[in-house]
Amino acid sequence: MEHLSVTNAQQCILEFVDRLDVETVMLEQSLGRVLAEDVHANRDQPPYDVSAMDGYAVRSADLAQIPATLEIIEDIKAGDMPVRVVGAGQCARIMTGAPVPQGADAVIRVEDTQAISESNAQINRTVKPGNDIRRLGENMRNGEVVLAAGTEITPGVIGILATVKCAQLQVYCRPRVAILSTGNELEDMDEPVDPNKIPNSNSYALMGQLQALGIAPVLLGIARDDPAELAEYLQRGLDYDVLLVSGGSSVGVHDYVRPTIEALGVQMKFWRVAMKPGHPLAFGVLQRSGDRERKEAFFFGLPGNPVSSMVCFEEFVAPLLRRMMGHARLYRRTVQARLGHDVKHQPGRTEFVRVMLNNEQGNYLASSTGTQSSGVSLSMARADGLLVVPAESNGMTKGELVTVQLLDGTVFQDNVGFGE
Ligand code: AMP
Ligand code: MG
Repeated sequence: MEHLSVTNAQQCILEFVDRLDVETVMLEQSLGRVLAEDVHANRDQPPYDVSAMDGYAVRSADLAQIPATLEIIEDIKAGDMPVRVVGAGQCARIMTGAPVPQGADAVIRVEDTQAISESNAQINRTVKPGNDIRRLGENMRNGEVVLAAGTEITPGVIGILATVKCAQLQVYCRPRVAILSTGNELEDMDEPVDPNKIPNSNSYALMGQLQALGIAPVLLGIARDDPAELAEYLQRGLDYDVLLVSGGSSVGVHDYVRPTIEALGVQMKFWRVAMKPGHPLAFGVLQRSGDRERKEAFFFGLPGNPVSSMVCFEEFVAPLLRRMMGHARLYRRTVQARLGHDVKHQPGRTEFVRVMLNNEQGNYLASSTGTQSSGVSLSMARADGLLVVPAESNGMTKGELVTVQLLDGTVFQDNVGFGE
């Protein structure tokens, strides 16, 4: 099998993925979820013309000559309903959010007036009709769709949902994800430190990446490089919607993951992607038979190198998970940055360089976080983003405009932002 380009591999994965089923959640638990239904306004908002300022409700025609002295006929607080009609030469004291009384066609803020007495106010400026009035239905009209299905629930969206009294809502389910690490050399968090072993960091870094997407994964632990033990772990992992396996997918004689998972019925779609870091990356699909609630499970064989594992998650696993959760935007947001130094590159593979971004005269400046070996996880931990070096590049030069994928956990865009 030849090596797929990064974008071809991403497209290949998404061909197999649909949104998950729908479930009902309480408004309080809805942050980050994706709406699976249109939401309608249940009334006009505001329900009547209201004042946008603390001041006086006036008839604009009375202010042809200023200063003008008007009689105060009423005091209208937010929550009150006015009882009097404002006539010629009259005004009403009014607070922000209070209904504008009949007869008045504008509001003058208190800063443009002078109180003369309890019953008279001097107005020091002219206004056009409608000044500082928030019109009935300006925010939303009864019955209109205020949020369409597919909308991601942000704090602002929660505010809208509360405005229309949507206490419960339909959202797409989140996938159940399991993480398995493999390797005889690995030592887990709860084991004593053995200087000859390698601490299992991948399970936890992947856990963090999943949590950043709003998914609470299950950690299956560490399987040794033994086909029988591996088969047991993998079988358990295939009960989930998505199984992430770190390590053991390479071509070494003890890399048993691929043959073992294939023997369990997973159809391998690809296992070679022309990228650095990241090789090898395997993707497979298990078609479940019978009346299982969910008809397939997805398998990713991620590279064991800590940086490669994280980069592959960002490029391939996150878009799949976001598609399952109903998001329209699947990919990390890309920005253009000036390169702070030369970057060497031989044509062949797309390279992801860990960079930090600094603001220089209003532009991003991208500079390497340090050693780019796929085993140096500190340079990943320090990165603000991944600089994308196109496969065909012969290297990049200092000062060049380059594409950087932001690693900020909350920023996504609707296309990958670079092409191969
Ligand atoms: P593999 O893909 O199994 O050949 O592993 C490649 C490299 O990644 C080896 O140096 C492993 O020790 C290391 N590695 C594999 N799994 C993990 C893990 N869970 N945490 C940290 N390093 C790992
Ligand atoms: Mg291994």
